[in-house]
Amino acid sequence: MIADTSSTALTDRQRKLSQTVREFADDVVAPAAYRYDTERRLPVEIIAQMGELGLFGLPFPVDVGGQGEDYVSLCLAVEALARVDQSIAVTLEAGVGLGIMPIYRHGTAAQRERWLPDLVSGRALGAFGLTEAGAGSDAGATRTTARLEHGTGGSADDGEWVIDGSKQFITNSGTPITSVITITAVTDRREDGTPELSTILVPSGTPGLTVGESYDKVGWHTSDTHPLTLEGVRVPKDNLLGERGRGYANFLRALDEGRIAFAALATGAAQGCLEEAVRYAREREVFGHAIGANQHVAFTLARMQARVHAARLCWLDAAQKLVHGKPFKAEASVAKLTSGEAAMANARDASQIFGGYGFLNENPVARHYRDAKVLEVGEGTTEVQLMIIARDLGFAA
Ligand SMILES: Cc1cc2nc3c(=O)[nH]c(=O)nc-3n(C[C@H](O)[C@H](O)[C@H](O)COP(=O)(O)OP(=O)(O)OC[C@H]3O[C@@H](n4cnc5c(N)ncnc54)[C@H](O)[C@@H]3O)c2cc1C
Repeated sequence: MIADTSSTALTDRQRKLSQTVREFADDVVAPAAYRYDTERRLPVEIIAQMGELGLFGLPFPVDVGGQGEDYVSLCLAVEALARVDQSIAVTLEAGVGLGIMPIYRHGTAAQRERWLPDLVSGRALGAFGLTEAGAGSDAGATRTTARLEHGTGGSADDGEWVIDGSKQFITNSGTPITSVITITAVTDRREDGTPELSTILVPSGTPGLTVGESYDKVGWHTSDTHPLTLEGVRVPKDNLLGERGRGYANFLRALDEGRIAFAALATGAAQGCLEEAVRYAREREVFGHAIGANQHVAFTLARMQARVHAARLCWLDAAQKLVHGKPFKAEASVAKLTSGEAAMANARDASQIFGGYGFLNENPVARHYRDAKVLEVGEGTTEVQLMIIARDLGFAA
């Protein structure tokens, strides 16, 4: 039962994929995870290997360079990586959900042609700049502006967006292989005074775009996260991603979907803690017997297993609904809520089972303990998930 991803809802291909990524995680990622965490840098060499395995292309069709699999497959890969390293898992999760998906879904033929080949193959990473100092949970409160300046050429297509503002906590925005950042910005005011929000593609290295120093984070040390400043950033008019004024609707969809893969990530973290704790409970002898022989320890492990199983069923249900074109918004929030709480609880319980050794950074459960906190914050806090679920119940929350 432990480590069992062979849900009856999975196809043979999906089970095989899950197994392949688990082996990659165990053989390649896990042995170096402590070193990456200490060095606090994203190992691009590992990202390249993930690219070669086709992980960034999983949910995309073959005609854009993808693997022709589906969103469930992506979630399985994210879960398998998160067992051993949440930072590597979130690099894939955000790289696909925030970096590639908006361009795949809303991009013009020219935008797809320019950006997708490198992103889908893992040769490049994309980022999504939504959050600002005053716009996190209330993402619609974006202050960054983009003004359309018409060119002198006289053509309707002539012109540039001039972007000013700042963003914070942007994953994958400052890696050596980051190629593009999708920025949300206010492009006008509607007649009723509300902001017209749009999304615009800003290539890395565009003059006026400053990628700030990496944050000194509690966890996810290997994942790349930066603040961004945009001062008079000029990009062609054609860099508008999707319809002008549809930015809010588009990023809400991206976030809803992303929460499912994020929930798979949290499930993987909870699973990793369980596996480590089970192993240690069998090995560690205290008072002349293995600590797992104590009913309290065994019950703790049983509870950890129950949390993992419930979390996995939640993300799988939401992902299956997404794949089959059914509404999934509330289910995605239930999955994110359940799995984030499972990861936090399992990290705490696993650390306790390891005793003093659980307090050493070299121990994977100690890293999971630090890393798990952000699972209750990123891609919508626990309270935002409760808000969405309460609204689904008909409350004005
Ligand atoms: C490591 C990391 C990576 C990230 N990556 C990205 C990224 O790639 N792109 C991106 O755009 N953003 C990213 N984020 C930002 C993340 O999505 C936000 O931090 C998150 O949405 C919360 O926003 P905030 O930090 O501004 O908190 P706030 O919105 O300021 O919330 C503070 C607290 O108030 C609570 N709260 C707020 N409103 C309510 C309410 N109405 N009812 C009850 N409670 C409420 C919140 O739940 C929270 O507990 C990342 C964050 C981190 C830490």
